[in-house]
Amino acid sequence: MHEYPATLRIVEVADARARAAGARRVVRIRLDVGDASGYVGDSVHLYFDPCAAGTLCEGAELEIRRIRVKMRCRSCGDLFERIPLSFDCPACGGEGEPTRIGREFDVVSIDVE
Ligand SMILES: [Zn+2]
Repeated sequence: MHEYPATLRIVEVADARARAAGARRVVRIRLDVGDASGYVGDSVHLYFDPCAAGTLCEGAELEIRRIRVKMRCRSCGDLFERIPLSFDCPACGGEGEPTRIGREFDVVSIDVE
């Protein structure tokens, strides 16, 4: 699964960050994963412990926030969660267009100590 190299990269980045800061270990990593990112948060979770073994990330807490896909209405500008097979705005019935919301695969923060 392609989450494996992505998880490895997150661990490398966090490990390097902790070393650069002179920290003993990484305590917590926060990650935003959008439903349309192409990555599955559960898989990242699964790979995290084996990837973190032997690094400063070993034993760190991985907090994954799942971001649902949002559309923006062309008529009223409302942001709304997409319903399968529909692009209609629940507020006004207008047509929704895709946004960047839901495509995230971002490390939000790395806490070290
Ligand atoms: Zn609307």
